[in-house]
Amino acid sequence: MPTKRKTPCAACAHTEGLQIDVSDHAAEAGFTRPNPTARKAAATPSGRIGQFRGTTVDADQEAIFAHTFPGPLILPDDALFIDPKDPPQSLRSWTVEKMRNPFTEQRKTLYVAPVPTIPTNLSCMRSWARPVQASPKALTTAQSLRPPQIEDVTSYLEAFYHPLPVKTYPGTVAFTEWEDESKSSKKKKTASSTPPDTVGLQVGEEGITGIRTRYCPDGTFARQLNLSDILDAALEALLEDAYSLVMLIDQDLYEDEEDDFCCGRAFGSSRIAVVSSARYHPDLDVGVVDREHMWPASHCVKYVREMVGEGRVPKQAVKYGDTPLAAAVKAAVEAPAPEGDLYGLWFSRVARTVAHELGHCLCLGHCSYYACVMQGTAGMGEDVRQPPYLCPVCLAKVTKGLTVLTPGLEEKEFQVQRYRALQKFCEGWMGVGMFAGYHAWLEKRIQSMDNAT
Ligand SMILES: [Zn+2]
Ligand SMILES: [Zn+2]
Ligand SMILES: [Zn+2]
Repeated sequence: MPTKRKTPCAACAHTEGLQIDVSDHAAEAGFTRPNPTARKAAATPSGRIGQFRGTTVDADQEAIFAHTFPGPLILPDDALFIDPKDPPQSLRSWTVEKMRNPFTEQRKTLYVAPVPTIPTNLSCMRSWARPVQASPKALTTAQSLRPPQIEDVTSYLEAFYHPLPVKTYPGTVAFTEWEDESKSSKKKKTASSTPPDTVGLQVGEEGITGIRTRYCPDGTFARQLNLSDILDAALEALLEDAYSLVMLIDQDLYEDEEDDFCCGRAFGSSRIAVVSSARYHPDLDVGVVDREHMWPASHCVKYVREMVGEGRVPKQAVKYGDTPLAAAVKAAVEAPAPEGDLYGLWFSRVARTVAHELGHCLCLGHCSYYACVMQGTAGMGEDVRQPPYLCPVCLAKVTKGLTVLTPGLEEKEFQVQRYRALQKFCEGWMGVGMFAGYHAWLEKRIQSMDNAT
């Protein structure tokens, strides 16, 4: 049974205030966040905000907005700390992007491929999906915890990309032994006792693609799979009515020789993506993830101060108010401790990443306007600090992309319907901090949209 977290006993109750803008560390990194005017302009079709001139700014509405869509935190070693000049993509630049594939009635289904089946002669691949270095206590979890399931992922996507149809890929998805003709028959015989350096992957009924494998450089898993090879296999399998295909993989992935590991990647213009659940395994949180300060509590001022170093004062520390972010933190604090539902914890992370990678299939770039599900990420610690929602700029892109399928539906009405679909999804996952927080955030967000009319 989930255990109720007792706030007074917790190390941090997040009561000092909330961080709604970038930390002081951003300036040190050379990151300049687009100013409020530029952020608003980025969400308009023209890229300008001339149409706002003459309208009075409601200070209360502005404050609520800032506490709905706070800035990216930019903590040490975050993606925007490492690459502070990564240019943001406005709605206008997204609209004119030549690589973007529009939705049509004939091509609008999001397909999710289940994890490939593993034949008995490749049963070693099952152990590749489990962390090698688990603590004795964690080991029991590793053996009993099932990875995030495809039904849960598709349900989340149905809400996130409401009203698109989301389907499980109906064809074959299977790992197979890879017959390498260049190898001698002697080598083939030893293949069963040594890990294969290539395995086959069949997606659909056509052919088999060779997937390179390698030892995991940091030793977290026994072996990793090459993600570009997996995406090649996915490319061959796009169905006629598919807008996109995302592959779910239990094993750890790598992209190239320099890379330690990779959790997800999309070839956006080809509308294919792959997401690995391996690194999100809760057993790997030790020393990497502060479970008390995952989103939304990642905006806790005390936490940000600790992360950027003593002596620095975070910008714009604000006290709690009746705002979406504050409501999200409160709901997440009141949710059962993550240890009570490790499956839910694991799934929430994978759900967020699948939505992110599919965002790339819609041609959304990485976001630096706000804290946003489309932010780039440099590691697990940062990943879990980022929100599950789309910021106003990214939401404007998704709204524009999807409302071509619902002629006559007002943009705001579309957004409210989408928020309601997400809320309904979260209602089934209120024992998980991220979803409990998301539910509360959505409630307040819908209220403030109602008040704005
Ligand atoms: Zn805190
Ligand atoms: Zn990305
Ligand atoms: Zn965004």
